[in-house]
Amino acid sequence: MAADVGRKYVIIGNGIAGTTCAQTLRKNDPACDIWLITNEPYPLYNRVSLPRFLQGLLPERKVMIRDFAWHEQQRLTLLTETFVTRVDTTERVVYLDKGGPLRYDALLVATGGWANRLQAPGVGGVEHIYNFVTLDDTKEIIARALESKTAVVSGGSFIAYELAEGVNVRGVHVTWLMRGPYWLRGILDEDGGRLVGEIAAKHGVEMVPGETIREVVSSNGAPRRVVGTSGREYEADLIGVGLGLTLNHGFLAETPIARRTGIVANEYLETSVPGVYAAGDVAEFYDAVLGRHNIMGTWDNALAHGRVAATNMAGGREPYVDVPTYTSPLFDVNIAVMGTAEAHNPDLETISRSAPGDKAGTTDYRKFFFKENRVVGAVFIGSPKGRKKMVEVIRSGMVCATPAERDALFDVR
Ligand SMILES: Cc1cc2nc3c(=O)[nH]c(=O)nc-3n(C[C@H](O)[C@H](O)[C@H](O)COP(=O)(O)OP(=O)(O)OC[C@H]3O[C@@H](n4cnc5c(N)ncnc54)[C@H](O)[C@@H]3O)c2cc1C
Repeated sequence: MAADVGRKYVIIGNGIAGTTCAQTLRKNDPACDIWLITNEPYPLYNRVSLPRFLQGLLPERKVMIRDFAWHEQQRLTLLTETFVTRVDTTERVVYLDKGGPLRYDALLVATGGWANRLQAPGVGGVEHIYNFVTLDDTKEIIARALESKTAVVSGGSFIAYELAEGVNVRGVHVTWLMRGPYWLRGILDEDGGRLVGEIAAKHGVEMVPGETIREVVSSNGAPRRVVGTSGREYEADLIGVGLGLTLNHGFLAETPIARRTGIVANEYLETSVPGVYAAGDVAEFYDAVLGRHNIMGTWDNALAHGRVAATNMAGGREPYVDVPTYTSPLFDVNIAVMGTAEAHNPDLETISRSAPGDKAGTTDYRKFFFKENRVVGAVFIGSPKGRKKMVEVIRSGMVCATPAERDALFDVR
């Protein structure tokens, strides 16, 4: 759709949501003016590839998706190493930490989240304690892993296991601590959690449930040991943490834009202030599949948000309707999370089962989530067969009311 000639768009954050939005805006409107701002030093890179870069399976150039020349070709003005400090939605102006303010006709906020840092006695002034979110984090972890023998990873998230696996593959002995009784306790149950523990152990990673970091013991600014809440001590030349994200919208504090955990947006990804949109990890958007607001931390969701936001910023009216999916290798098996998979949501019923996988010595775990008898989510660990069909089942809102109908889901291939 062609927008007004000379319309000016500002996009904060050049991740997959922001860069896809910029690309879509340009495709639909050759005459508009597009500014893309990021505090990072790089054009778009693939965060999903960072675990494989950490493991040494991918070179850095394969992690990069765009280069500066592409932005010039597309006539996108990319400001790197630049922070947005404040937004004035009355004057429609974005303020930067360097350079003059930018006026906008439509604004997209696609700023993701900052990784939560480890807070524990002994961390002050100590190096080699890492989050795992950016390309620069990954480069630093690789450099330290090459000179380390032992590592402690803390957290029950996807990021924590990707850290544990990546550092382990680099030949470092990893102990993986998590507060909960098993990994991904917000999604899995005991059975699925035990399976993941067994997979990690098979790869030489010791998983310690019910344990977090009580204290870091260091010498000469480098960690030496971690003391767990149980009192047990773990050698650690390197500490990695996956303790979740704080969604990044503090710079909107002076605006009337509604914010809860994320930036509240409707199904068109428009915020409570006309002309301002939110996309990707930072958006708490109205999810038409679920019938409520939702936050998703997945690549596909952020990409699709970027496209829909661009259409609507240019005057369109397209709702965002999708079944979110997250797939990832888990050591040497696969995990796929589709739709709404929340273990402790009282509105959802669940069933799960483990069965021997097709390959000898493997196990397939499946869990399904129902809301008012409709299938709204699924988790597969092991064989990914049937994943696409399952997404269709969720998209169609299939009713599975009887035990037989629910049982049949275990056979979707
Ligand atoms: C290690 C890792 C592995 C992952 N693996 C998977 C996977 O297997 N599958 C999957 O689906 N998802 C995965 N994810 C999640 C996925 O990468 C994210 O959901 C997705 O990248 C989010 O994109 P985004 O565009 O919303 O935000 P981001 O990619 O976070 O981009 C936001 C950008 O905005 C910048 N920014 C923030 N505030 C400001 C400001 N004030 N001024 C200027 N710039 C600012 C940030 O620095 C950042 O560069 C993984 C994430 C990580 C970190």
